[in-house]
Amino acid sequence: ARILGIETSCDDTGAAVVNEKGEIIGNALHSQTETTVSLGGVLPQYAKALHKKHIDTIVKDALQKAQLHPKELDAVAVTVEPGMPLSLEVGLSYAKQMVLEHGLPMIPIHHMEAHALTARMVEQIDFPFLVFLASGGHCLLAVARDVDDFLLLGNCTDCAPGDAFDKVARRLKLKTLPECTGKSGGAMIEHLSRCGNRDTFNAPDVFFKKRSCNFSFHGIKSHYMRYILEEESKQGIEGSGVISNASDLCASFQYAILRHMCRPLQRALVFCDNNNLLAETKTVVLSGGVACNRYLRHGIEKVCVTHGARLVVPPPELCTDNGIMIAWNGIEKYLCGRGFVDDPQSVCYRNRSPLGTDITEEVT
Ligand code: ATP
Ligand code: FE
Repeated sequence: ARILGIETSCDDTGAAVVNEKGEIIGNALHSQTETTVSLGGVLPQYAKALHKKHIDTIVKDALQKAQLHPKELDAVAVTVEPGMPLSLEVGLSYAKQMVLEHGLPMIPIHHMEAHALTARMVEQIDFPFLVFLASGGHCLLAVARDVDDFLLLGNCTDCAPGDAFDKVARRLKLKTLPECTGKSGGAMIEHLSRCGNRDTFNAPDVFFKKRSCNFSFHGIKSHYMRYILEEESKQGIEGSGVISNASDLCASFQYAILRHMCRPLQRALVFCDNNNLLAETKTVVLSGGVACNRYLRHGIEKVCVTHGARLVVPPPELCTDNGIMIAWNGIEKYLCGRGFVDDPQSVCYRNRSPLGTDITEEVT
């Protein structure tokens, strides 16, 4: 089977063709990261305009690399939830047009499910396994029980880690550093942290009233924003953001993020053990843009090892948004005969769409 995947949920326009062996036979991506960084976030209208501008070229490019005519495809998989409405709309309309024109089946895809299952494209991972997704808009822990069956153990109650990274990087004006050009906020902070001391700017650990596997990065973000203000005033450079000890601040901030990522993960692993929720070979899959961070990955791996689990992280280009993961999710659904829709033209996109069955309230 050969399936085309189309991704336009946020600010990246992606298209790829993947086969049932998990081989990427054509891939194209237009990333708006640089524009997003210079604008200080994703502007819906602007993102939509860029998707519209690039989608046709990106899809044609992926098909051309795969040396396929659209008629030779087995289906078109497209992200329909969750994401920014204006962005999702572009990909979905394009997919509708394509399946109509070439008489192809359509497989609507849940963006977070796609992030969660990408790892199965590169490595043998049996259900059920634990998924840890950390990105610009999400931070969640879920048990992947089957291709379309997820159990949500923990979710983000406010600011997602990628967003916290982006905001702090922006406040520090890191994009003005030559070594940071083209990088996302998270990648800039990871880079600076390498030569910083993580014990310089301490932050209190995040506490919830009730024990859970949920995440909250808002407090950490505010804490470090305040540190920046204080440093500016000490250094007499109010409002500039360009503090002399930025690398120490970054390293400490990154360490605070790591500590907060580890705690719910530990709880989730214990909860899974107690309720026998994972396969015999205990596997944790870490994905989403934040999973590109090697320091965080390393720390998370230590937690997994302590709990007798192996950690699988897809390569960086598969962790951030791309068409490949959508195509692969299409393949997974296609192979088990699920996910097809009778009337592609009536498919709607959804702005918000939680992943799986929510038991976050029951996990302690
Ligand atoms: P979502 O998938 O939740 O809708 P998104 O599509 O914006 O959000 P991704 O493309 O998966 O998210 O990831 C982008 C985020 O990942 C950005 O916030 C970026 O700062 C973060 N990120 C990328 N590289 C790194 C890194 N090395 N360290 C930390 N964060 C990173
Ligand atoms: Fe994403």
